[in-house]
Amino acid sequence: RAKALGKNRLVRYAPGMAEAAEEEVTLLQDLTAAVRAGQLEVYYQPTIDLADGRTTGYEALLRWQHPQRGLVPPAEFVPLAEASGAILEIGRWVLEQAVGQATVWTAEAGRPIGIAVNLSPRQLADDDVVALVSAVLAASGLPAAQLTLEVTEGVLLRDVDRVAGQLRALRELGVRIAIDDFGTGYASLTYLRRLPADVLKIDRSFVQDLGGDVRSRALVASMIELARNLRLEVVAEGVETSEQHAVLGGLACSHAQGYLFGRPLPAPAHDPAQPAPTGAVPAPREPVPAP
Ligand code: C2E
Ligand code: MG
Ligand code: MG
Ligand code: MG
Repeated sequence: RAKALGKNRLVRYAPGMAEAAEEEVTLLQDLTAAVRAGQLEVYYQPTIDLADGRTTGYEALLRWQHPQRGLVPPAEFVPLAEASGAILEIGRWVLEQAVGQATVWTAEAGRPIGIAVNLSPRQLADDDVVALVSAVLAASGLPAAQLTLEVTEGVLLRDVDRVAGQLRALRELGVRIAIDDFGTGYASLTYLRRLPADVLKIDRSFVQDLGGDVRSRALVASMIELARNLRLEVVAEGVETSEQHAVLGGLACSHAQGYLFGRPLPAPAHDPAQPAPTGAVPAPREPVPAP
C-alpha cells in the first residue's frame, strides 16, 4: 500500500487504490503534525550477549501515538515518511533521542551500553548524514563505537558507489554498520560484497522456524558461519521461545534480540544495570496497534 506513494506515482485506476492513496495522504498530513505535536516516541528493545545473558545495548524503534487511530506501527508510516522526505527530520530526532539515552544508560550501568538506530535509504543518501551523526555524537559525548546504524539492502536500490562512500565515511567516524533483515531480500550477498558492514542481523523469519524446521536451522547455521568468516558480529532477530534460544546457543550465535529477552518499551522500563531477563518471566506487553 505504502509503495503507491513510494515512487512518487499513484496507480490511479486500480479499484480501491484511490481510497487507499487518499488515506495515505491524510496519514502523511497527520504525520507532519505529529512531529510537532510530540506524538512520536522512541521505544527501546534490548540486545543480549548469549554467552553471559547480559544486555549489550538497545535498538531504537519509532512509535506513533495517533490521537484517533491509536498506535500506528512504523511499517505503516515510515515508508510514507521516506517517500515524502519527512524521514530526514524524524530520523534526526530519533538519532538525538537514542544517542542521548545511550549516554544516560552508560553512566547508570557503569559500562558501555550500545545503541542501534535504523537508517532509511533516503537518510543514508542525504549529503548531511555524516556531519549529522558526527554532530549528534559530539553533542552527547557518546563514543562513536557505541552507535550502530542499521540499514537494509534496500539501500542497494540507490547509487551503490555513493551509498558505499557514505557508509565508509560513517565507519571512519567509528560508528558500526549493521545489515538489518539479512536474508530476506534479493541481494543479501551482493550487499556483503559491495558495502561495508560490521554486524549481520539474521531476519526474524528464519529464527521463527528454528524449532522444528531443519532447513531453517541449516540456513541460520550457514548465516552464522558466513558472519564468522567475514568477521562480522551476528545478531539473531525475533527470538520468542526458549527452544529457539537453545538452538541458537548450540549454533554459537553471539547475540540475540526478541520478545523472549525483552519487548520494545519506553526507556524508563529498561535498566541495563540489572541482569537481562532469562525469558522465564514474560515481559510486559506492548500496546496492540489499532486495527
Ligand atoms: P527492524 O529494524 O527489523 O526492527 C525489528 C522489528 O521486529 C521491530 O518492529 C520489533 O518490534 C520487532 N520484533 C522484535 N522482536 C520481536 C519478536 O520476538 N517477535 C516479533 N514478532 N517481532 C519482534 P517494529 O518496531 O514494528 O519496526 C518495524 C520496522 O520499522 C523496523 O524493522 C524498521 O525497519 C522500521 N523502523 C522502526 N523504527 C525506525 C526508525 O526510527 N527509522 C527508520 N528508518 N525505520 C524504523
Ligand atoms: Mg533494525
Ligand atoms: Mg530487522
Ligand atoms: Mg525489519
